[in-house]
Parts: sequence; C-alpha cells; structure tokens
Amino acid sequence: MLKKQSIAGLIVWALIALGVTYLITGSLNPINVYQENVSLIAKIIMSVLLAYVILIIIGLLFMSAPGISEMICPICNKNLMSFVSVYGQPDTCPNCRTHGRITMYHRNCYKAAGQCPVCAEYDPMNDLHKNTF
Ligand SMILES: [Zn+2]
Ligand SMILES: [Zn+2]
Repeated sequence: MLKKQSIAGLIVWALIALGVTYLITGSLNPINVYQENVSLIAKIIMSVLLAYVILIIIGLLFMSAPGISEMICPICNKNLMSFVSVYGQPDTCPNCRTHGRITMYHRNCYKAAGQCPVCAEYDPMNDLHKNTF
C-alpha cells in the first residue's frame, strides 16, 4: 500500500517538475533551469521539486530492498541469516538479478534444489522451451 502511494506520489511530483521545467525553459530537461538565465526563484522551486522526487526514489529503494536479516530463503522457507550455519552462506540468484528481482537463498539449499524457485515460478519453461516459439 505504502509503496503504491509512493509510486503515485513519485509520478505526480515528476510530472509537476517536468511541467514547471517546461513553463520556465520551454523544454522538458530540468537541467536547463540551472543552465539558462533563469530567475533564482525558479531555480529554488525546481530544487525543491527535484528534492521531493529524489527523496521518494530513495524511499522506494529502501522499501524494495528489505534488510538481509529479514529475508527468507525461498527454498527452505527459513530466515536467511539465522540458518547460515545449517544451510550455508546466502547467495544471490544471478538470473533473478538480470530480471530485476532480488532473490537470495542458502547456498546448500540451492545445491539441493538444483534451481531457483523464483525463476521456476516466473519462467516455468525457462530453458526447455526458450526457442520453440
Ligand atoms: Zn535455505
Ligand atoms: Zn532466480
């Protein structure tokens, strides 16, 4: 919920920033506000708008990346850090990373399972039927 609101807020603020940029400079590049002979007031307004956008982005980054201590191994469904001594060091799935997902599991769990369960869920036919259609 909070994340959705932040994304909506981000879009609104980004649109306002772009709109103000366009009103001031006639272009959609916020950098122009600082380069051209623009009034100080306009620069301050732009700085505040951009600061809002950046703050929301930082907030979203923190929300989408939960602390490693709270992460659960998707293979054994146990806490990632608490069970390191039993199931091995945490590993990041390289395939998930290329698809923008953050998946971490215990090294030994992955060896035992033979595949990343998140990859299997998103791409059930992953390597088997990649070239058939
Ligand atoms: Zn595990
Ligand atoms: Zn994966």
